[in-house]
Amino acid sequence: MLPPNINPVDLGPSPAAPLPELPEHSSRGRLERVLRRGEFAVTAELNPPDSANPDDVYERVAHFDGWVDGINATDGSGANCHMSSVAICALLTRVGYSPILQISCRDYNRIAIQGNVLGAAALGVCNVLALTGDGVQSGDHPEAKPVFDLDSTSLLATIKKMRDDRTFLSGRKITDPPRLFLGAAENPFAPPYDWRALRLAKKVAAGAQYFQTQYCYDIPMLKSFMQKVRDMGTHEKCFILVGVGPLPSAKTARWMRSNVAGVHIPDDVIARLEGAENQKAEGIKLCIELIQQIREVEGVAGVHIMAYRQEESVGHIVQESGVLAGRQPFRRAFATAADSEMPPSSVATRQMM
Ligand SMILES: Cc1cc2nc3c(=O)[nH]c(=O)nc-3n(C[C@H](O)[C@H](O)[C@H](O)COP(=O)(O)OP(=O)(O)OC[C@H]3O[C@@H](n4cnc5c(N)ncnc54)[C@H](O)[C@@H]3O)c2cc1C
Repeated sequence: MLPPNINPVDLGPSPAAPLPELPEHSSRGRLERVLRRGEFAVTAELNPPDSANPDDVYERVAHFDGWVDGINATDGSGANCHMSSVAICALLTRVGYSPILQISCRDYNRIAIQGNVLGAAALGVCNVLALTGDGVQSGDHPEAKPVFDLDSTSLLATIKKMRDDRTFLSGRKITDPPRLFLGAAENPFAPPYDWRALRLAKKVAAGAQYFQTQYCYDIPMLKSFMQKVRDMGTHEKCFILVGVGPLPSAKTARWMRSNVAGVHIPDDVIARLEGAENQKAEGIKLCIELIQQIREVEGVAGVHIMAYRQEESVGHIVQESGVLAGRQPFRRAFATAADSEMPPSSVATRQMM
């Protein structure tokens, strides 16, 4: 309860106040609206700081302003310790951005996770990405105790239950449920390839409404995966955003291929970087070309840009790829205009599930 001398109205509306409800929408966030309108969506991963300074978050996110429909707050990715995803989301919603809360099951049990889900929704978070998470052995604290009380699929089912049935896993009632757009990760570029489309369908059955994939540097492999997804009809039941990222050098590409689990980079990509006069610029050019090719693959709904330590290149990549087709995602300077730009509920939107 607020002290008696403070009127809640005086606190004013939060800049992160979710948008008005729309029929058939699970959340009140921008990402779901953009996808259901059939527009090609762009999300970007924020490299979380190793500091307690909020400016480190705001400086990085400034590079995404006006270019993306959602900003991913990673959760101890690579099992390394950084600023927490819930805290980053709170900093972002406070200034009007649309974060995607990543939840890794490695570090919390179901009691902590459900509490965080309610808290994040109360802070204005509208999107979640449910992950099993990297194992502790891949990070900087290999002696940490892994939790894995849930995995990505049971986490999706848990949050869906909280949202749709208004209960915790225990069955206890939730008075005001979290209105969240539920996502998961998929990796079409790592074995077992034939199981990847099935795994995606399993996550859809558990509640996933959108996916963000691992880095794509192999278009034929993506096309083969999407063919399987289309054969199963799963592309009609979820939105698939394909992961991309600029490689800064052939050396980094080789390191990622050998050391980051699930990352597949073909030899010809590395050879192209190696042969370039300016490898960083070539990596950005390659990323732009990949986005343009990905956009043409049937069933793909958007791209997810993971520009590790190259946040400043995101605006250029999005602009040069042309995928926004003149559309202007949320920009702080035009916050009111951008929000009111949302179409009336009479505009046809894609309905699923
Ligand atoms: C976009 C994106 C963001 C990520 N962000 C984070 C993050 O913030 N924090 C973090 O810790 N990790 C993160 N990761 C890494 C991710 O958690 C691991 O790559 C994980 O191994 C696979 O994704 P998942 O968590 O959805 O696991 P799941 O799909 O639930 O898989 C869990 C494990 O089972 C294995 N598996 C899956 N399907 C099969 C199958 N059919 N047969 C045999 N084995 C199988 C997987 O390889 C994995 O080891 C991210 C990955 C992506 C693509």
